[in-house]
Amino acid sequence: MLETLRPPALPLDVLQAFALQAYGLAGTWSALEGERDQNYRLSPADGRSAVFKVCHPAEGDAVLRCQALALEHIAAADPSLPVPRLVRTRDGELLGRLVHDGVDYPVMVLSWLDGQVLGGETLSRDSLFDLGQLLARLGLALRGFVHGAPAGRDLVWDTRHVLRLAGEVDNLPAEDRALAQDILARHETVTMPAMRRMRSQIIHGDVHPHNALVDDRGRVSGIIDFGDMVHGPLILDLANAAGDFLSPGQDSEETLFQLVRGYCSVTPLEEAEADALVDLIEVRLLMTPLIDALKASNGIASQGYFQAFNSRSMPMIRAMRALGRDRLRGLVRRAAAFPTVPPQHPKTAAEAIARRRKVMGEKLYVFYDPPLHMVKGEGVWLTASDGRRYLDCYNNVPHVGHAHPYVAEAIARQARTLNTNTRYITDQALEYAERLTELAGEGLTSVTFVNSGSEANDLAWRMAKAFTGHTGGLCMDFAYHGVSESIDAFSPSNAPDHWNAAHIRQLPAPDVYRGPYGEREGDVGARYAALAEPLIADLQEKGLGVAALMVDSAFMTNGILDAPAGYLQAVVDRVHKAGGLFIADEVQSGFGRMGPSFWGHRHHGVTPDFITIGKPAGNGYPLGVVITRPEILSHFLQFGPFFSTFGGNNVAGAAGMAVLDVIRDERLLENARDVGAYFRQGLAGLMQKHALIGDVRGVGLATGVELVHDRRSKAPAGDVMARLLNLIRDEGALIGGEGKLGNVLKIRPPIVFSRANADFAVAAVDRALARL
Ligand code: PMP
Repeated sequence: MLETLRPPALPLDVLQAFALQAYGLAGTWSALEGERDQNYRLSPADGRSAVFKVCHPAEGDAVLRCQALALEHIAAADPSLPVPRLVRTRDGELLGRLVHDGVDYPVMVLSWLDGQVLGGETLSRDSLFDLGQLLARLGLALRGFVHGAPAGRDLVWDTRHVLRLAGEVDNLPAEDRALAQDILARHETVTMPAMRRMRSQIIHGDVHPHNALVDDRGRVSGIIDFGDMVHGPLILDLANAAGDFLSPGQDSEETLFQLVRGYCSVTPLEEAEADALVDLIEVRLLMTPLIDALKASNGIASQGYFQAFNSRSMPMIRAMRALGRDRLRGLVRRAAAFPTVPPQHPKTAAEAIARRRKVMGEKLYVFYDPPLHMVKGEGVWLTASDGRRYLDCYNNVPHVGHAHPYVAEAIARQARTLNTNTRYITDQALEYAERLTELAGEGLTSVTFVNSGSEANDLAWRMAKAFTGHTGGLCMDFAYHGVSESIDAFSPSNAPDHWNAAHIRQLPAPDVYRGPYGEREGDVGARYAALAEPLIADLQEKGLGVAALMVDSAFMTNGILDAPAGYLQAVVDRVHKAGGLFIADEVQSGFGRMGPSFWGHRHHGVTPDFITIGKPAGNGYPLGVVITRPEILSHFLQFGPFFSTFGGNNVAGAAGMAVLDVIRDERLLENARDVGAYFRQGLAGLMQKHALIGDVRGVGLATGVELVHDRRSKAPAGDVMARLLNLIRDEGALIGGEGKLGNVLKIRPPIVFSRANADFAVAAVDRALARL
């Protein structure tokens, strides 16, 4: 690899004669610096200057032809990229052939680029950003260029081969050796293995201040010298440039940040590339003293800028080490838009709990004792800070799975494009509203966006009061519909002991397992529905009337009830008759939870006046919607405008549509039906072994398992709930508790749940019950 380290030195008159004969070029010649080639600027009296390069014969034809073809490829792929153009010979050849003293020298002629070589000067902040962009454009322009030569090239400067220079460490000054060894060891054990998996292509490989031209404003106006092209990891272009543009006198962090940011604005880095960058910069810096030592031991003295480069290398590495590699790595990650975990990520769950108590209130309102400290979600799995994975059997917000890649990407893309509000016409709100009304059908064609289930219910309630002129409401006993003041009134489960809402009446839950009417009694739906009658009459007597009935079709807080056929319709009929409206709260029951029905109310065969949605709609992105009939919305808007700042923002719309896409593409309505039925079968099977299970019920992927101490008396076993849930957790599954008596296992997983997941959950419940 050493013979190419000394450039050719042909007499000028020989070159001049050749230039005229082969290229038709004549003019003034001035020598240029070159590490391997003999270079001149050739300025014709009329016309543009050119660079005349007598190449080193050892370079090999293939490499030079490749270089020439690469320049032609770039000219076609990104014509405005400021790099030299190849000038072919008069015969149309890529290279000229100059035979002198029996040696065959390849010649290459390139267009002259204006500007000054940056050399020892430094770039401004903006120029560093521009340079990052240029590097990325260079990589992009070469992405489709294929040639065999660079792959087989054996370049002393190739960072990947730095370990071959390890023997030169002993020739470095004594004080530098330990640092050099440390860098090489890391390269061998960490960076090299990682690089093998990085995207690779033909790269320039050697953009440094002496290959960069700047204009009179100090902006980078050209990149020259394609003599070091290799087929290698794309990141080396950025790493080598970063190493070479850092200077001890400048703010290294700023230099690195701007270069990476500029690069990523054109070509985002992959995470492994970003994480390897700082190490690769150190290697690049270390190569100069190692190569210098290699040259010295072969009797070759370094020339020109190489010496200046060399003298800054070790101090620069030390300066980087003084800043701290972790700090620089964090900086690169930020510049490459890879947010890090919180910098003060608690090491243990205990630390996390203590910190939370301090800033979020002494009383921990959390699941489980001790609480779980979650750090990652993926599909139906949640990972805690101790590394343990849990099967998520009860979270309904990550409806199509935690961190669903399609939804996450939709959110991220939209966040990168535009996020504003419905005071503008926006594509996402418009299209999402259209898709929702299509799904709602039944004349529900008006959509209003808010941010949560509570807000949706609150707004629906306001609209219902406005439309009916009434002020009384109906909900289930032990219902939950949200947190706002008016919806707290519809949520007796918030405060079962001191619930007090004078304008609301609570319907007895249609509980065929535990309520007054059992499954075997005839017309049980009608019987439960009839219980609404005196409540409606009472509201009317008090002069409140009925503005709205609000029901969650899954009867989730009531213990996931299988409401008897005809029940909901019969109640809604009575409400309508009293001049009231029906708000179908689909926060829990919608989006296929009760698959195969998309909406819970449809499972009951009822047409609502409002559909309110929340939780699952955005798969975790806050999103609330009221869907109603146009006359109801129009009536409401007579009294003033309605606008919610975040409601219906572009990202929310993108998230909502992505969720709908996934439900359709992954056939999740069918999945909820099939896996739900299979799951309940497995759970019901446990009844033979465990007397504690009194009832297994539900629809789709909403399942309730009621626990009793005695199947005859149905004595509720709410007292064992907390312990059982912790035991199930110990078995690796997460399940919730529900119901007025706190004795119903709430099993409500993401609807991507599979039969294998169901088997896992059933086995976990089985083992936990055995241990109870
Ligand atoms: N309605 C129902 C049926 C709910 O389960 C919930 C939340 N658990 C809400 C409304 C309130 O939604 P949010 O928490 O988004 O305000």
